[in-house]
Amino acid sequence: MKILKIQTLRGPNYWSIRRHKLVVMRLNLEDLAEKPSHQIPGFYEGLVTALPSLDDHFCSPGCRGGFLSRVREGTMMGHIVEHVALELQVLSGMEVGFGRTRETATSGTYQVVIEYLDEQAGRYAARAAVRLCQSIVETGSYPKAELEQDLQDLRAYWADASLGPSTESLVREAEARGIPWLPIPARSMIQLGYGAHQKRIQATLSNHTGILGVELACDKESTKQILHESGVPVPRGIVINYMDELEEAVEQVGGFPIVIKPLNGNHGRGITLNIDSWKMAEEAYDAAKEVSRSLIVERYYTGRDHRVLVVNGKLVAVAERVPAHVVGDGRSTIEQLIEWTNQDPQRGEGHDNVLTKITVDRTSWKLLDQQGYTLQTVLPLGEVCYLRATANLSTGGIAIDRTDDVHPENIWLAQRVAKIINLDIAGIDIVTSDISRPLRETGGVIVEVNAAPGFRMHVAPSQGIPRNVAESVINMLFSPGAPSRIPIIAVTGTNGKTTTTRLIAHIFKQTQRVVGYTTTDGIYIDDYLVEKGDTTGPQSAQLILRDPTVEVAVLESARGGILRSGLGFDACDIGVVLNVAADHMGLGDINTLDDMARVKSVVAESAMPNGYAVLNADDPLVAGMARNATAQVAYFAMNPDNEIVRAHAQQGGLAAIYENGYLSILKGDWTLRIEQAIHVPLTMGGRAPFMIANALAASLAAFAHGVRIEDIRAALMSFQASADQTPGRMNLFDLGHYHALVDYAHNPASYEALGGFVKNWTGERIGVVGGPGDRRNEDFVTLGRLAADMFNRVIVKEDDDTRGRARGEAAEWICRGLEAANQRCPHEIILDETKAINSALDRATPGSLVVILPESVTRAIQLIEARNPVGHTTATQ
Ligand code: ATP
Ligand code: ATP
Ligand code: MG
Ligand code: MG
Repeated sequence: MKILKIQTLRGPNYWSIRRHKLVVMRLNLEDLAEKPSHQIPGFYEGLVTALPSLDDHFCSPGCRGGFLSRVREGTMMGHIVEHVALELQVLSGMEVGFGRTRETATSGTYQVVIEYLDEQAGRYAARAAVRLCQSIVETGSYPKAELEQDLQDLRAYWADASLGPSTESLVREAEARGIPWLPIPARSMIQLGYGAHQKRIQATLSNHTGILGVELACDKESTKQILHESGVPVPRGIVINYMDELEEAVEQVGGFPIVIKPLNGNHGRGITLNIDSWKMAEEAYDAAKEVSRSLIVERYYTGRDHRVLVVNGKLVAVAERVPAHVVGDGRSTIEQLIEWTNQDPQRGEGHDNVLTKITVDRTSWKLLDQQGYTLQTVLPLGEVCYLRATANLSTGGIAIDRTDDVHPENIWLAQRVAKIINLDIAGIDIVTSDISRPLRETGGVIVEVNAAPGFRMHVAPSQGIPRNVAESVINMLFSPGAPSRIPIIAVTGTNGKTTTTRLIAHIFKQTQRVVGYTTTDGIYIDDYLVEKGDTTGPQSAQLILRDPTVEVAVLESARGGILRSGLGFDACDIGVVLNVAADHMGLGDINTLDDMARVKSVVAESAMPNGYAVLNADDPLVAGMARNATAQVAYFAMNPDNEIVRAHAQQGGLAAIYENGYLSILKGDWTLRIEQAIHVPLTMGGRAPFMIANALAASLAAFAHGVRIEDIRAALMSFQASADQTPGRMNLFDLGHYHALVDYAHNPASYEALGGFVKNWTGERIGVVGGPGDRRNEDFVTLGRLAADMFNRVIVKEDDDTRGRARGEAAEWICRGLEAANQRCPHEIILDETKAINSALDRATPGSLVVILPESVTRAIQLIEARNPVGHTTATQ
């Protein structure tokens, strides 16, 4: 077997609208192409031995063992690779289940599609699955050690990919509320929501968290000071910088027992609690000094440690934190007890898991010593041995939910404290013997206030009810009903995408919003160019959706990007499909018009249920996309009598049509006239029918999203398809005694569309034509035929970039088309584009129209402008 290509999809795609994370592997089965699994001796047995858990794959039989029975009876290797790749991920802790395998037009070559959770792991699993199957084919088995290594690598990818537990809880909650999110490639920040409605988080800091509050909380002494001034009980203590201040400090806080801690520390580092001797105090001083220059000496308060979480002014959870400890069983040593405790699958390293493993360190030895134990002591039944003084989960502590126990007065106090420190998300540490009684009565204190408190102890406490604290944060960032998305209008089709995208952007501009749009020319925000180039892929879409200034996104979504990586957004409000015609055939394993329609249908199907799929009713392949759309459907049609539109309107549906020279919206029984085509410059005074179609699509998309007719009208009348604004789209230049038209048309459908305009020209029509070298021979012949039909005289040229073809070959094929056409059409070949254009312009007859379909629009326009055109216009001649 040979892997030809692996692609990673990240959004709605050809294979699935709902499953965005897929790896697509193009796989040549080579000698296995002719051999289903039952004809490979020992394969079934080898596979079952290597991966017995494949028994869980139901596959088409729909029952346990279903897939394996297919292997036994005979199935193709691509299909087996698919299941193995999925299983390898499952065995490494990634729950995936979606897969597809299809043979391509190249016999023996398959597309194997597998779901992933982590991109790198997905690609790895695809490769490993091929390796595993190949090994079983060749040797009858896959070495156990290899499999172990694969699984280990996959687990490592997964561990690297996982977000921290707090971030994870926030992201899950956002997903549950339908709020899209994206990782920001800096400082582990996460973007929630799109464009202007986005919010950011970094762990549990939000973009409402103020720097003043964070800095105050990080300074424990100032925190205590400000709380003390407000009458909040805090430990009595002072800050020292030198050893010789220690003795007096101890005295000032009322003598032993005391606590020494770094002034600005966290996670319990450098803290010693319950210091009751001078010797211990000296050691504690040194330990704290390692973390911070200034130290806090304060009274030690006995009691239990609580973490109170206040979000947006409301107490949302309380956890009691118990330091790392083991409980005796009367038989085992402390060392054994630690080992067993750590075997709990909930305990991981660091913050990765719900709990953290207990490690024995300097403080543990001290505590053991204080308690009169060693690691070898057999702990009596029920006896508790503490291995840490502080209760941080990250050092092996556990958390017990106490949310329902907290006394109302303590709730009031905690909420007040969060406000005083001025944190939207605050973790307040309270030491008290009983949280269900007011601190006033128990003599409890507020030890400190934490910015960016961890959520792990609340969402996954070791005991008690888990609290969905993430919900309060998300509700704070996006109050119920507030938008998190910006309108996304996605545009696809074979021809007219860029023009329609620009026009839609122009219409939305009339609503005083900042519009971000991507096209084959570049990315624009508020009509300023952000990046030049063919920017119709998902990265460009994401640039727009990440931009905090963008209020509306209009995204040209081309076939290439959809096939390569899926759409760059999870769903759109309006999905526009203009047309499906033969172009790019044979690329990306898309060989038929139906296949191509399925690719473009991704845009229609990604429209949200409360949004619209805007479909061309005159194009049966596009109209058919209504079947799979979950959104409402709105149709546009040049033909006012189109059956589909009529039936749709009768049922109260929304549509746009061209009737009696008007671009009009149909809404149920009502006809809302937008404007006469002759007043819409883009339509060249109504003489370019395909531009009318584009304008209908754009108007309908905007209207479906609630834009007023007046705004649409104003936009249609002011949108200039000038060479500056839409280079290469029907740019007409007046050169005095003749005209020149520059257009991008490069496939049969766009030639035909262009013909609709050109054939109305009264003077001589001269064409300068060619086509991209990677199209099929028959496509060139078709272009030739169409050119013969449209022009009185043709110059055939070629692109500078022949895309792998021998120079002159494409031109030859086009000439065959010209010659095969009914109409005799004089033609000549001038391969060099510049020469061809100049020759045509030099020899233009009075009143004629020279139509240039260039590779480089910029160059063509330069050549024309060198001849000082009177002006260029798109409206009337
Ligand atoms: P974290 O980052 O986990 O909040 P930290 O390093 O910021 O910890 P503190 O919160 O100041 O340190 O102290 C850690 C724990 O030590 C407290 O939660 C509390 O249980 C205990 N503690 C701190 N100061 C005192 C005190 N004066 N009296 C009693 N216990 C204390
Ligand atoms: P590309 O695939 O190159 O990005 P596109 O779909 O973005 O193209 P435009 O750039 O808007 O399309 O238009 C390119 C050319 O296609 C136009 O100059 C015109 O010749 C033709 N065209 C535009 N709209 C249509 C249409 N609705 N039907 C057929 N042809 C069209
Ligand atoms: Mg603390
Ligand atoms: Mg385009």
